Amino acid sequence: MSARSDHHQTVPLSVLLKRELASEKVEKPEISHGQANQSKKGEDFTLVKTECQRVLGDDVTTYHVFGLFDGHNGSAAAIYSKENLLANVLGAIPPDLNRDEWIAALPRALVAGFVKTDKDLQERARTSGTTVTFVLIEGLFVTVASVGDSRCILESSEGEIYYLSADHRLETNEEERKRIIASGGEVGRLNTGGGTQIGPLRCWPGGLCLSRSIGDMDVGEYIVPVPHVKQVKLSSSGGRLVISSDGVWDALSAETAFECCRGMPPDAAASQIVKEAVGFKGLRDDTTCIVIDLQPPEKPSPPLPAPPRKQGMKVFKSMFKKKSSEPSSVSEKEYSEPDAVEELVEEESANLSERLDTKYPICNMFKLFICAICQVEMKPGEGVSIHSGTENTKKIRPWDGPFLCSSCQEKKEAMEGRRTFGGIF
Ligand SMILES: [Zn+2]
Repeated sequence: MSARSDHHQTVPLSVLLKRELASEKVEKPEISHGQANQSKKGEDFTLVKTECQRVLGDDVTTYHVFGLFDGHNGSAAAIYSKENLLANVLGAIPPDLNRDEWIAALPRALVAGFVKTDKDLQERARTSGTTVTFVLIEGLFVTVASVGDSRCILESSEGEIYYLSADHRLETNEEERKRIIASGGEVGRLNTGGGTQIGPLRCWPGGLCLSRSIGDMDVGEYIVPVPHVKQVKLSSSGGRLVISSDGVWDALSAETAFECCRGMPPDAAASQIVKEAVGFKGLRDDTTCIVIDLQPPEKPSPPLPAPPRKQGMKVFKSMFKKKSSEPSSVSEKEYSEPDAVEELVEEESANLSERLDTKYPICNMFKLFICAICQVEMKPGEGVSIHSGTENTKKIRPWDGPFLCSSCQEKKEAMEGRRTFGGIF
């Protein structure tokens, strides 16, 4: 899985920011949103925080946060994540970063924030779990972190559809099945006795259908909270984002979801998507939808115009499809084409030594003696290198950071199947 990122041609953030500088403006779209829900179990929760402010020298910048938490085995994990995840993510971003450093720091901070939230929740001994689809919007930069099977999809103003989240269902994700089996879990269908197997693939013990979530401490540490992270930059003409729980995606395709609410403002669009999904399959599950429109500021703010699309034409870019194991097919033309959605980051590995070892100059700003996950201060010599004990090809010296506190190091080893969390080898 890690090899994929080597082939993956993404656009450097610096190139995009230079373009903005050259055009002498920071592109700030207008953001409008709406949400709708039909509840069966009452385990879906949403987080909407718009116009969050961040001080940048003498300037103030704003960003927007949207989250969807689809709980299972109770609501505790979903509610705890809704209340704590954002603070844990922001707490993992060093202070005083400029705009490009802040955007570039997000993927790593999201990983640290998800793992810290999961670890803190486990210490409270909850047995519930939750999917998380977490979206941060800064200007035209959209960063999505996800665990589980809720989804975030994007339709650009050019009429193309992109998947911004992963699908962590064991049934459809072979790489995740391999990872769980390698970490000591078992994957199989429910056995009704007499050899008859029914239902989707599940992880045993526990019987969870998902390979990643926050919570689920009773299932096994290999159900990890490490999110799939994707960061894109929209073109200045914007686009529409739809975040929905599996209640929608079990009934509707991405195309149908966008098509059924075309031309509607976001709140009506969210209601329409939920209505279509429930109308199609009945209310079998909690069904929640958030619709977010990003539009150029100069326009008077009509609903998104219908993009010129041929009926039935499927426009998927292979570079955005999750399971492409081949090198990305992004061409020279796409790389130099500013009027399209551009991908900056796509990371999926469950391996923390890869995900927290970001090669970016801001690494220098992370204080050496702060735990890369929980941000606790450590005495010199107390931290454990995040690379210790991992099969990393490069030579690791004990003083190579980033470092983890002993408690987070235990958590990391448990997630890799090398020990039981809180227990012994
Ligand atoms: Zn720690």
